[in-house]
Amino acid sequence: MDEFDWGSLHPETLGIRTGIHTTPEGEHSEPIFPTSSYAFKSAAEAAARFAGEPGNVYSRYTNPTVRGFEERLAALEGAQACVATSSGMAACLAVFMSHLKAGDHVLASRAIFGTTVQMLGNILARWGLETTFVDLADSQAWRDALRPNTRLFFLETPSNPMTEIADLRTLAGIAHAAQALLVVDNTFCTPVLQRPLDFGADIVVHSATKYIDGQGRCLGGAALGSAALMEPVRAFLRTAGPSMSPLNAWIFLKGLETLSLRMERHCRSALALAEWLQGQPQVSRVFYPGLASHPQHALAKDQQTDFGGIVTFEVKGGQQAAWAFMDAVRICSISANLGDAKTILTHPASTTHGRISPEARAAAGITDGLVRISVGLEDGRDLQADMARGLAAASNG
Ligand SMILES: *Cc1c(COP(=O)(O)O)cnc(C)c1O
Repeated sequence: MDEFDWGSLHPETLGIRTGIHTTPEGEHSEPIFPTSSYAFKSAAEAAARFAGEPGNVYSRYTNPTVRGFEERLAALEGAQACVATSSGMAACLAVFMSHLKAGDHVLASRAIFGTTVQMLGNILARWGLETTFVDLADSQAWRDALRPNTRLFFLETPSNPMTEIADLRTLAGIAHAAQALLVVDNTFCTPVLQRPLDFGADIVVHSATKYIDGQGRCLGGAALGSAALMEPVRAFLRTAGPSMSPLNAWIFLKGLETLSLRMERHCRSALALAEWLQGQPQVSRVFYPGLASHPQHALAKDQQTDFGGIVTFEVKGGQQAAWAFMDAVRICSISANLGDAKTILTHPASTTHGRISPEARAAAGITDGLVRISVGLEDGRDLQADMARGLAAASNG
């Protein structure tokens, strides 16, 4: 790179002007490099590459389109290094497999993505890893659950679907005093709204499948952190294989160009809907960190530049009313995904959180009347009218 100070640029610019790898054709839009391997100029060059000289060898290791995405996301997260993966779960697995070993102990928030709970609690448990699940927002509970062999803290903030906020500075302090890494799944905020590394986190993971794609087209993920912490993650990927496809990398790379703009609209529409829902007689509670009524509104304001696109609310009348609401809307989709241009409704108690016991669900506050909205990019007035239609059906049910 030349002497231009790229670090002085703002996120909107970094998301568009970094990670560009062009060819001699002079194309303006980033090219896709759909190649599994690379040809060498000579036998000696092949030997040198295999001996570790910089350069491409095989796309399980490196690919220019994937590298472009990694550089652009690293610039946005303020990270030294980024490793792209085939999915968000592959990013989590790569971090766990490269930074933990049998006999280690993990502290994880109870309110993480359900599949991550399965990965830690079922799969990795069979390989001798122990995990204790604790309350995200109760920093003292994390301190109390520490063991001499605790090596890693794992959390998401805001949590899904209850939008609880973790105090990142405090948890980083607790983790580091215990020689443990703080790993934050930043899928919900994206680096546009929150940069966990700035608050002391060591590693950030993403499901790029959500807001980074932004239009629900493909799966991908990433892990970010210092070069030293990412080195074993990349080594794991080279050997185990869940690398990102160059075709998907191109979609994510282009997705990053509009991420700031999209997040701004997601947040604006989400706040408007949350405020409106709060005033509706059929609604008993609304969970959104941007509401002054949110118990951790001040902490969210401190850690995030805006409050995100996920709004959760409780409709009066339990599951029957929640389902009546979802079945009556005409614009919003019913799906378990999020971070899409299309607004998506989810009934957590019967889908994403359906496999956990009713008692655990109740303890987590996930009642039968709860509906999660991933607020999309449609006109906010149309969304509100759609929700009004849903609420009218909920109260008639
Ligand atoms: C979707 C999601 C994941 C898993 O990502 P995939 O790309 O589906 O593998 C992990 N964490 C969070 C917060 C998610 O929303």
